[in-house]
Amino acid sequence: MQYDHIVIRYGELSLKGKNKKQFIAQLRENLKHKLKPFSNVQLIQSRDRMYIKLNGQDHQPVIEKCQDVFGIQSLNLAIRVENSVDKIKEGALWALKAEEQVKTFKLTTKRPNKSFEIGSQEMNQILGGHLLSNTEGITVDVHNPDVEIRVEIRHDATYIMAGKISASGGLPVGTTGKTLLLLSGGIDSPVAGYLAMKRGVQVEAIHFHSPPYTSDRAKQKVLDLAQELTKYGHEIRVHVVPFTELQQKIFREVPENYGMTIMRRQMLRVSERLAERENILSLTTGESLGQVASQTMESMNSINEVTNYPVIRPLVAMDKVDIIDISRKIGTYETSILPYEDCCTIFVPKQPKTRPSREKIHQFEDHVDFSEEIDKALDGIETITITEHDLTKSEFEDLL
Ligand code: ATP
Ligand code: MG
Repeated sequence: MQYDHIVIRYGELSLKGKNKKQFIAQLRENLKHKLKPFSNVQLIQSRDRMYIKLNGQDHQPVIEKCQDVFGIQSLNLAIRVENSVDKIKEGALWALKAEEQVKTFKLTTKRPNKSFEIGSQEMNQILGGHLLSNTEGITVDVHNPDVEIRVEIRHDATYIMAGKISASGGLPVGTTGKTLLLLSGGIDSPVAGYLAMKRGVQVEAIHFHSPPYTSDRAKQKVLDLAQELTKYGHEIRVHVVPFTELQQKIFREVPENYGMTIMRRQMLRVSERLAERENILSLTTGESLGQVASQTMESMNSINEVTNYPVIRPLVAMDKVDIIDISRKIGTYETSILPYEDCCTIFVPKQPKTRPSREKIHQFEDHVDFSEEIDKALDGIETITITEHDLTKSEFEDLL
């Protein structure tokens, strides 16, 4: 025998009332993309359940892929057997023995198929007796079992499920709208993007690039980070903004210690304009309170002034060590620490103002008109679409 199905468990998604249908449809869409590399497997949806039919495919790599799909709380391996008492007994015993280091078990039988001749209570007793008399040193513990064996007698067949495998939780990407992520080459912003996606948000990225001060490798690093993030969101559009002229003008026209604050304001202005153009309703950054000079309360107050779009800051209250942990876990850390220059580090003043005031900024900005450079930056945007894996459309359709 071998496991031939994976059962998908929804978690929070199942609490969503009327929206549930839409959430499940999006999850199904996201899973379909995720499972593209496995040409044998089928994604099947019954009325109340989604499962993957493995058709001979080894389950381990499939499970690993599913663990990156938001909206899945946990997974169960399952075997499908005929609706016969003997087959169910055989299957349940196999599933129990397949678990390693198990001392106690609990058995739960459900019988949605009421035409099956034996009730769930009686079936539980038959199966429990069978498992106990065919194993050694294993007992029943209904409160805190090492493994729960679930038997579901359905119309088409009986599914026997064992060990629960945890997944990422969250909500399916695409169910809570879109955000424009300000993506640098650093550690923080990719993590911020990941956390936004975990809440179901679809991410597009904007990156400010200042050639020749920043190299092609620095830009490639950002594209590589976006590539890593597609693991969680299938496809990410990266908008690369030519930022050199704006930065040079700031450098020339604004007192050095206010340069960084005003540069951030320009970033937000350009981002908001792009978001508006692309019908995106929010911005997301990797800012974390107190981390660097631009992330004091005064800085945030001054920078945020230029936009009335919601600025989502998933890391605002997190410690750096915890952000690094996530970054390692999601696979962006190794790329983030590559030593290529970022546009912000090039013109960074020796002593940036850590407590900038709106009043001062207004004085400086009143004397300089950046609107032409902002328009030019927007016109010069290069948009690159990055997808998780490139398969032909026909291979994709086969999976449906
Ligand atoms: P990160 O690790 O994300 O680079 P950081 O700790 O270096 O963050 P800052 O340099 O102050 O912090 O940047 C704050 C936020 O501004 C970043 O998290 C990112 O969202 C945005 N940002 C900074 N530089 C760029 C850039 N070149 N392009 C797009 N967004 C940027
Ligand atoms: Mg940075």
